[in-house]
Amino acid sequence: MIYRMFKDLKLSQLGFGCMRFASDPETGEIDQAKVNAMFDLAIREGVNYFDTAYPYLGGKSELAMAEALSRYPRESYYIADKFPGHSLTAPIDNIALFNVSLRKCRTDYFDFYLFHNITEWSEKYYESKEYHIIPDILRMKEEGKIRHLGFSFHGGPDLLEDFLTRHEGQFDFVQIQLNYLDWTLQDAKRKYETILSHGLGVWVMEPCRGGKLAVLPEKESAKLKDLQQRNGGHEPWLSDASYSFRFLQELPEVKVILSGMNELFQVEDNLRTFREEKPLSTEERDILMDIAENLKQGVPCTACRYCCDGCPVGLDIPYLLECYNDYKFDSSITPSMRIDGLAEEKRPAACIGCGQCTHACPQKIDVPSALSELAEMYEKGPHWSEQVSKRVKLIQEDLR
Ligand code: SF4
Ligand code: SF4
Repeated sequence: MIYRMFKDLKLSQLGFGCMRFASDPETGEIDQAKVNAMFDLAIREGVNYFDTAYPYLGGKSELAMAEALSRYPRESYYIADKFPGHSLTAPIDNIALFNVSLRKCRTDYFDFYLFHNITEWSEKYYESKEYHIIPDILRMKEEGKIRHLGFSFHGGPDLLEDFLTRHEGQFDFVQIQLNYLDWTLQDAKRKYETILSHGLGVWVMEPCRGGKLAVLPEKESAKLKDLQQRNGGHEPWLSDASYSFRFLQELPEVKVILSGMNELFQVEDNLRTFREEKPLSTEERDILMDIAENLKQGVPCTACRYCCDGCPVGLDIPYLLECYNDYKFDSSITPSMRIDGLAEEKRPAACIGCGQCTHACPQKIDVPSALSELAEMYEKGPHWSEQVSKRVKLIQEDLR
């Protein structure tokens, strides 16, 4: 197992993400025997980092993880959990909810604790004086119930810089969506560098972009397989996913790479990849970058901002095009949340189609068309507000 030192801790670089355990589609019951078997194998091969979050799997992930880990000594593994500030619609007793998580995880401290999913939208709840989330959780750290505090982040690079600057000295690590596609698509490179500039550790989520880089389109996957053949075909087991992980292993400050595993074969495949370092060859890296370019379906905005000053309605055009590109790749909830974070008059529907931006753009991007399509995609959903009510109900029940 590849290990990374973080302060005085030796962390397995492969972290077990507990958000995708197999469950009965009708009852929602998690297959605990399967979870136990996956954990047993992972632990036997050296995995010591397990990541859950209060709302994962309707609140059942914490319980299933704790059940599987309770068969091992507490000091032999690290638990990471998250506070659901992005799932609140009114102030709550933050400490009481934190204690619910401790109880569900059968522990009296968290090795790692994160503010869950900070974006341009959820930021206002985390920063709210009334909600009082950050001061309450910082107090838990002072009391020794949290060893290392961080946050998971789905916003843009500007917000990341602002947030870290505002909270200088309060965090130990940041978890971002990072993979060879988002390196450019979501400007994850800049986020990675921003985190380093604040002296913090980098944790990675979505290393395979929700599985899409683990099972590439046939045409793209064939490029990697052809290369293997040209190199003698000695490693037929190399999966598409293994290349994603090896891309990340080369970034020196990436301490933990989370993989949400729900099948034993995925655990086996990942363990093979993390057994020892195997740097990408130049050819492999070039192919990955080529695949990333082919998977992108949006517009080639470089965020130069030449178009911004002349926009009569003052839209943050590169920000909106970033959301557009994200939507074009998959219509996950993240770009929708980022647009939710904008005032009504700054959303894509506010574009009046004057075309000034296209005229100013060195890439000659048809911004009005992209924004009109973005407005439609945003309108169609999915919307975070539709999901948040379920989570609020869960929190209310747990705090009763
Ligand atoms: S077309 Fe839309 S985005 Fe472009 S300058 Fe005009 S109002 Fe702004
Ligand atoms: S000018 Fe073109 S490339 Fe530059 S930020 Fe605007 S849309 Fe993007």
